[in-house]
Amino acid sequence: METSSSNNVCELFASAEHERVVLWSDPNSAYRGIIAIHSTTLGPALGGTRFRNYETDQAASVDALRLSRAMSYKNAMAEIPFGGGKAVIIGNAETCNREQTFRAHGRFVESLGGLFITGEDVGTRPADMNYVSQETRYVAGLPGRSGDPSPMTAHGVFRSMQACARHRWGCDSVAGRTVAIQGCGSTGYHLAREVHRAGAKVIATDVSATALERVVEEFDAVPVSPAEIFAVAADVFAPCALGGVLDDETIRQLKVEIVVGSANNQLLSDAQGDSLAQLNILYAPDFVANAGGVINGCRELLGWDEKAAANKVDKLYDRMTTVLNTAAAAGEPPFKVANQMAQALIAGH
Ligand code: NAD
Repeated sequence: METSSSNNVCELFASAEHERVVLWSDPNSAYRGIIAIHSTTLGPALGGTRFRNYETDQAASVDALRLSRAMSYKNAMAEIPFGGGKAVIIGNAETCNREQTFRAHGRFVESLGGLFITGEDVGTRPADMNYVSQETRYVAGLPGRSGDPSPMTAHGVFRSMQACARHRWGCDSVAGRTVAIQGCGSTGYHLAREVHRAGAKVIATDVSATALERVVEEFDAVPVSPAEIFAVAADVFAPCALGGVLDDETIRQLKVEIVVGSANNQLLSDAQGDSLAQLNILYAPDFVANAGGVINGCRELLGWDEKAAANKVDKLYDRMTTVLNTAAAAGEPPFKVANQMAQALIAGH
C-alpha cells in the first residue's frame, strides 16, 4: 500500500488511510481538539495527547493525521496489541485553565467508547492525565502508575543506535564516537546519559538554556546553538525535539553517518528518507526506535511487570537490525522497509 507523505490535510484525507477523524469543541472551556484514529485492526488505538498553540488548524490536523499513522506503525512493530491514534489540543498553555481543558478532553476521549486510549505527549504531563481520568478510564500515564516513559524511550533509542553502529561499523559500541543530540528534554536527557555512560562524546543543543545546562554539567556535553547542531562534526545525529527536522536544508548540512533519535516523524516527507539513503546516511526509522515509551505503558495497560517491559525494549535492537538488514538486502531505504513491515503486520492480522 502506498502511504501519503503529504503535509496537506486534504491529500492526507484523500489517501483514506484513517478510520476516523473527530473534531470536538467545548465553548464553556474554549477547548478545541482533534482525535485521529488511524487503525484499530490490532486493538484499540493507542496514542498520546499533544497540547500546542498551533499556528493554523491545518497544521494541527496534519499533525494528528501523521502522528496517528506513526502510532499504528510503532505499535505494530513493537508487537503490542494496539492500533494507532493521536489527539491534539489546540490551545495556549500560558492562558488555559488546565483542569477545564483536560476534563473537556476526557469527555471527548470517553465519547469514543474505548476506541482510543490516550496518555501524555509533548505539552502534556501526568497531572493533566489525572484530569482526563476524571471523565474517562481510557487513559494511561497517570502519576504513580507506569511512570515517566522517557527513560524507556531513550533506552530503546540507545539500543537502536547500537544496532545502527553494528550495521555501519561492525560493532555495537559507541565508545569514542560523537553523538549530536537535538533537544535535551525528557528523552534527550536520558539518551545523553546512556550515550555518555557508553563512552561517547555528546554535543547538544536545546532552545531551553536550563535543559542544555543540565546535560553540559552532568554529561560533559559540548553545547551548541540550535542552528549549529545539524552541521557539527559527529558520527550520529539524534533528533529528540519535534518532528519534521530532517528537511532538504538540514540534511544538506549533516556530516554524520547515522541518524537515530526519539522524535516522532523526523522526516519532513518520504523524499528526505530517499535523500538520506542517497547520501549514504543510515536513517533508523523513528517509529521503530522510539517505541520504548508505549512498551512501558503496557505495564499500566496490560499489567506487564517492569522486567518484561524492559526486556521488550531491549529487543528493539533485534527489530532495528531486521529492518536494516532487510533494507540493505533489498537495496531500499530503511524507512520504506519499516513502513512495509508495519503495513504487513497490520494487514496480516
Ligand atoms: P520534551 O518536551 O521533554 O523535550 C523536547 C526538548 O526539545 C525540550 O527541552 C525543548 O526545549 C527542545 N526543543 C524544542 N525545539 C527545539 C529546537 N528547535 N532545537 C533544539 N531543542 C528544541 O519532549 P520529549 O518527551 O523528550 O519528546 C521529544 C520527542 O520525542 C517528541 O517528538 C516526542 O513526540 C517524541 N517521543 C517521546 C516519547 C517519550 O517517552 N517522552 C516517546 C516517543 C516519542
